[in-house]
Amino acid sequence: MTATSEQPPRLDDTAGLIHVRRPSDGTHIADLLLHRPADIAETAIRLRAAQPEWERIGVESRIEWLQSYRQWIVDNTDRLIEIGADEGGRVRNEPMLETTLLVELIDYYSRAAPKLLRTRRIRPGSPLVLGKKLMLHRHPYQLVGVIGAWNFPMLLTIGDALPALFAGAAVMVKPSEVTPLAVRELLRGWEDICAPPVLEAAYGGAAVGGAVVDEADFVQFTGSVATGKRILERAAATITPVSLELGGKDPCLVLAGANLERAANCAVYGGFSNNGQVCMGFERVYVEDSVYDRFVDLVVSRVRALRCGIGDDSDVGALTFAPQLDIVDAQVRDAVARGARVLTGGHRVEGEGTWYAPTVLTDVDHSMAIMREETFGPVLPIMRVTGQEEAIRLANDTEFGLSATVFAEDKHQAEQIAARLEVGAVNIGDFLINMTCVDAPQGGWKRSGLGSRGGEYGLLKYTRTKVVANSRIPTGDREINWFPYTPARRRAFRGAVRLIHGRGLGRFGF
Ligand code: NAD
Repeated sequence: MTATSEQPPRLDDTAGLIHVRRPSDGTHIADLLLHRPADIAETAIRLRAAQPEWERIGVESRIEWLQSYRQWIVDNTDRLIEIGADEGGRVRNEPMLETTLLVELIDYYSRAAPKLLRTRRIRPGSPLVLGKKLMLHRHPYQLVGVIGAWNFPMLLTIGDALPALFAGAAVMVKPSEVTPLAVRELLRGWEDICAPPVLEAAYGGAAVGGAVVDEADFVQFTGSVATGKRILERAAATITPVSLELGGKDPCLVLAGANLERAANCAVYGGFSNNGQVCMGFERVYVEDSVYDRFVDLVVSRVRALRCGIGDDSDVGALTFAPQLDIVDAQVRDAVARGARVLTGGHRVEGEGTWYAPTVLTDVDHSMAIMREETFGPVLPIMRVTGQEEAIRLANDTEFGLSATVFAEDKHQAEQIAARLEVGAVNIGDFLINMTCVDAPQGGWKRSGLGSRGGEYGLLKYTRTKVVANSRIPTGDREINWFPYTPARRRAFRGAVRLIHGRGLGRFGF
């Protein structure tokens, strides 16, 4: 049987269940209770009731809870990886990246949060407000809603919930209905350590996601551009702030003089890890003419050597979300119809489950969907360019802007190119480092997103600032600029402003 995207629906409203199936062979794994939008309002009430105490205990006590959670994650890593691999049709190395990053995030924010959340004094630079004392306080949003995608389900829900918890918020996570099981296990972990009830999950699809947006004071969303727009529209009704991590079409630039072996190994890893279902995965490769043929040969031999399967001796798993198979196949067919050449792969794989052969395309150009739309699958199109200028121009010729990778002759050239790429991150001679280094902000330009995760902003975005202004010196009955306005007081105020803002003799009215 040919791999098919046709499967019974996952969301069963009549039974109130989510049916979770294995992408690797289509068999049933588990049923989960489907929340109704009305349940989300009740969950929000519970979380809001628990949040003030979570905020009150302070960041050091919250760190203790999160460190206990860290220990639980470490102790249960193998099971989490197993569940993540099974429900995603992925090789275990991929969910292992998620559990690793969850621990990295807890460690980073345990170090950074006390300083970031500390009340700090703002020292006014202007003599006009010299006598004032301004203190900057940070207060968490009470309820943060985190809505995640299916490609890295643990990281894109709990990973985004962690900094919100450090900040003192309560969090409702809504994993993708495609892959809710590893997240359910992580929620069990929060209960196992008897942590305060400030973290709950909402299970369902678009309707439940919409209800989460309605209830939350801040929404962290990861998913497609189309859904991101809907989230933004819905959040506009209540002026709820959102942070959006959306789709990508990330380029890899390979120029003459680069280490071609490393560039080819990196291109294959960047294009096919997690079966190409990585928002920052390579979806376009631009290679300078003089090294093009050699580079293509290296890539093709490595892609042919990739082992498809979900066992520990496999490299590339199944496609997690069945409809993705049709998108990938349609883009490859469109490219071929417009003149692209398939050097390997280019077809669905016979058998049960959602499998697509790792594919390399050449003779591609920007008239093809494969070079313009997000593919999110195991396809690497490689395009020949005349040199650096054309590579930069084509890399920027997209509505997306998550990240890019550059292989150049030397560091100087690579950094010059990096400065001209319209993306949120550039990895020089590498892939995904910007994401695996959780100290750094990760966010998209253009339609790839709004805001960022990781680093300082990854935590501070879950807080609101409050400035408390006081006087450092004794105050009289009124300030010089208050009512009543009189000519004498206006002259005095004007004189003071002229003295401060004026230059040279102009300060004294000359
Ligand atoms: P999706 O947009 O279909 O769904 C994402 C989440 O939104 C799911 O939980 C879904 O149930 C929910 N949802 C769907 N419609 C909704 C609505 N109207 N209101 C509220 N919630 C709604 O995306 P997907 O197919 O799950 O994930 C793949 C996409 O995610 C790709 O485009 C990929 O590039 C992107 N992604 C981006 C990043 C990043 O960091 N930028 C990371 C991973 C994935």
